[in-house]
Amino acid sequence: MTDTRKPLKEFIEHLPFIDTHSHTAGFDLGTPLDDKAGKSLPQVIENDYLLYLSSSCVVPARPPVPEGWRVEDAEEHFQSLLPLLDACRGLSTYAALREGIRELFPFDGEDITTENWKAINEQVVATYRKHGERAWHRNVCRKAGIIRQNQMCVLNYVTDHWDALPEAERAEQKQLLLPSLVLDGYLFTGFASGPVGRERTKQLLEIHPRTRTEYLAMCGDALDLFKEKGGSTVKLLTAYHRTLKFEMVSDEEADALFAKGVESLEAADLHRLQDNLCRHLLRMANQRALPLQVHTGYSLPSQWADPEHLLYLFRDPDLQGLKIDLCHSGWPHEGGGMILARTYRGCYFNLCWTPLLSPTLARRILSEAIDIVPMNKILIGTDCGTPEMMLGATWLIRRVILEVLDQKVAEGQFNLAVARAIAKSILFGNACEFFGLSDDLKAGGDFRA
Ligand SMILES: [Zn+2]
Repeated sequence: MTDTRKPLKEFIEHLPFIDTHSHTAGFDLGTPLDDKAGKSLPQVIENDYLLYLSSSCVVPARPPVPEGWRVEDAEEHFQSLLPLLDACRGLSTYAALREGIRELFPFDGEDITTENWKAINEQVVATYRKHGERAWHRNVCRKAGIIRQNQMCVLNYVTDHWDALPEAERAEQKQLLLPSLVLDGYLFTGFASGPVGRERTKQLLEIHPRTRTEYLAMCGDALDLFKEKGGSTVKLLTAYHRTLKFEMVSDEEADALFAKGVESLEAADLHRLQDNLCRHLLRMANQRALPLQVHTGYSLPSQWADPEHLLYLFRDPDLQGLKIDLCHSGWPHEGGGMILARTYRGCYFNLCWTPLLSPTLARRILSEAIDIVPMNKILIGTDCGTPEMMLGATWLIRRVILEVLDQKVAEGQFNLAVARAIAKSILFGNACEFFGLSDDLKAGGDFRA
């Protein structure tokens, strides 16, 4: 151990953290108003990445319960989860979840097993019933040193969901969360919450657009409403469904496509309409000073999510000043992402999720990013769906940053003071700048003080 490692470890463990990427506060639509129904251990385990992986490693892929497992079904649910759990015990994602659970619900033994799961489950159920999902999440954020946290959502989140909360609780949620409006629903793509958000937008604004111009005006009003309600950024998760390469498509062509009826368009035509709409949406976001967070990297085919597809955004005169966060390190195209962040002032290289996916990968990418990209351009985030995983991910992030910086100090690349400055920039200072947070936050003292 180097003699700088101890003070550096101390420093990093006590830095406040602005989590730039999260789904933990109730995913896209928010938690139920009465959030004290409880949660079981198997529900916590299955909530995040394990469910996503299930189709690749176990048969049957999903538990045979169409309406979903209830808290009371914990025994049966846990048994049905075991093959998936056993297949995933070696994953770093699972390790972070397990350690988060261990810290919050202490248990005997090295892992969660058929012997100890019931005792853990009792603690989980009782805790969620006592605090409710939202207060529990805020508690764990305090424990993790997370002082602000991004929350991916649709418009309903900041209107219907927040409006329904009692005033004091709404204030607490607003104090913590930095909502990011997922734009994909407005592009007629994305996941199931997309159309829900789009249809609710029409109702909330009492607009039923008949032309593309009217539709874009509605989207502009939606951005205004989102911002007024405490919205912070916009998000594109497009690459899960199509390429991030948005071509230039004229307004005349797009008008004609829209007039045909979006539902009736062939895939290629819908694609061209999306290309046009996306450019306009991003211009409107820029006019409203809403930074953009883009899902880059992980997708199939991975070329769809290549960050270099976004080059035009930095060259478009109408998008000057737009801050763009390249999420998930752009991996496996992280090199292109780093070149963009090294070249354009508004571009940020974000290692969100990478440490969870693989600490080995994260150490390498962070190490290269620190070498290549100025320290004020690197962001990081957890990208979790439960407080338990989020806590494990936060400790993992702090550890990876420590290991990478400590090695560079040992090699003489920079001294302890620079290492501290880099850690503070990554965990905190750069996110303040990206999200436009106030100066009193920028001071950033010890979150445990
Ligand atoms: Zn995410």
